[in-house]
Amino acid sequence: MSRVIVLDGEGKRLADCTRERAETLLASGRAKVVSADPFTIQLDAVVPLPQPKAEEDPLRGKRLLLHICCGPCATFTVRYFRERGAEVTGYWYNPNIHPYSEYLKRRETLARYAEEIGLSVFWEARYDAVEFFRRVAGHEAFGERCALCYHLRLEGAARFAAEGGFDLFSTTLLISPYQNLRAIRALGEELGSLYGTPFYFENLRRGFAEHHRLAEEHGLYRQRYCGCLYSEWESLDPNAPTRRRPRDG
Ligand code: SF4
Repeated sequence: MSRVIVLDGEGKRLADCTRERAETLLASGRAKVVSADPFTIQLDAVVPLPQPKAEEDPLRGKRLLLHICCGPCATFTVRYFRERGAEVTGYWYNPNIHPYSEYLKRRETLARYAEEIGLSVFWEARYDAVEFFRRVAGHEAFGERCALCYHLRLEGAARFAAEGGFDLFSTTLLISPYQNLRAIRALGEELGSLYGTPFYFENLRRGFAEHHRLAEEHGLYRQRYCGCLYSEWESLDPNAPTRRRPRDG
């Protein structure tokens, strides 16, 4: 039986459920459908997570380099890390966004938002789309190519964090229920060890609903596909050969 993605009232991803269970929750009014593909429901209820005491918080007083994939994903994430006491600097490096006009649109959206919230961002000038396509050549299937895509972007962040003397680095990808957090964590930790700046991991999916609200409040452009040419194709064509089942993790 196919599984259904379940989010709590704040957008945090919970354990998946069966279609039957989802239909029961929908019929009782305790959940609503937020995405048809992958089939995702959101509960009314919020499942609270324990927060560390301020004085024990590993982010408190730390210089954090945050890889940012787009303006909307930066909204909740930057606010959350700042609230935890981190000094956040953004880092833009996304050669996975195609076509180039879309890349510029997302970059401009983040630039405007960063100015609004007083966030300094380091902008990698190089686009590196050719490097992206070289790396994923022969590995175009969803999931497989994503691991290579994460590696390319996180390696840029890890290298820059080490050169800039940051205490930690992380990524706004951690807010998305459509990204593979297990793979991102493993790669982030591996690259952190390699370059010498630890990767900060936390499942931020509970902020997913709030990030939508904030993006709307600030009038940010919201894209309809993840970023690469393949994801755009898959968003329009259910039979695209690169498509696979939704990520877990
Ligand atoms: S779907 Fe998203 S994460 Fe996967 S390769 Fe494309 S842009 Fe990268």
